[in-house]
Amino acid sequence: MHLLLAVAAGLAVTQLAVVVTTVYLHRGVAHRALRAHPALALSFRAVVWITTGMRPREWAAVHRRHHAATDTPDDPHSPARMGVWKVQLGNAWLYRRAARDGETVRRYGRDLRADRLDRALFDHALLGLGLGIGVLCLALGWRTGLVAAGVHAVSYVGLSGAVNAVGHTVGKRPYPGSATNGQVLALLTAGEGFHNNHHAAPTSARFSLHPGEIDPGWWLVAALARLRLVRVRHERAPLRRAA
Ligand SMILES: [Zn+2]
Ligand SMILES: [Zn+2]
Repeated sequence: MHLLLAVAAGLAVTQLAVVVTTVYLHRGVAHRALRAHPALALSFRAVVWITTGMRPREWAAVHRRHHAATDTPDDPHSPARMGVWKVQLGNAWLYRRAARDGETVRRYGRDLRADRLDRALFDHALLGLGLGIGVLCLALGWRTGLVAAGVHAVSYVGLSGAVNAVGHTVGKRPYPGSATNGQVLALLTAGEGFHNNHHAAPTSARFSLHPGEIDPGWWLVAALARLRLVRVRHERAPLRRAA
């Protein structure tokens, strides 16, 4: 078993999952800030499936509910109401509770229907995760592969929790609301750390709105747009309220 290799591979898989989460699930599916070419969208769906097991329509619905009900009793993960540690450590459980409550997806995911590929493949989380773990074991040997999968699981769940917990607690607030901006979190999450900017302009594909802010997810979106693999909805970020 190669521990260093397992940690490096696990963190690399997490970064892949983080990039697809912010570019496809968040900016693309949940907010329609960008539209991916069908072939690219299919690749994104496959990566979401084997690295997270999540269903894009459930992720988008839970997240839209968070925007619609931020810091109210209906917010699925509000650190202001639940406490920052409950959201940081319990984020995966809070997500699952909202995704499977029968109401969230019906209300916030009306436009997102399961297609034949979802029913055949992508809705089967255990199959996707099993495939992902299988690829790691084949590439690295089964012991190293299993440890890499464990490292990925812990770091992905931890970073997702941090966006919802730290991203509503610690950092700058150039715009109104509890969401915060943090460059370190943004570097670890391909731009998600600019959560205050994002709440102010949810349909902007770009989360960096001020000089010096580094949003790696936006760099990828801009490169894909130049290759005509992605269409960005707005030229400029449409702010919901004046700064
Ligand atoms: Zn938020
Ligand atoms: Zn959002």
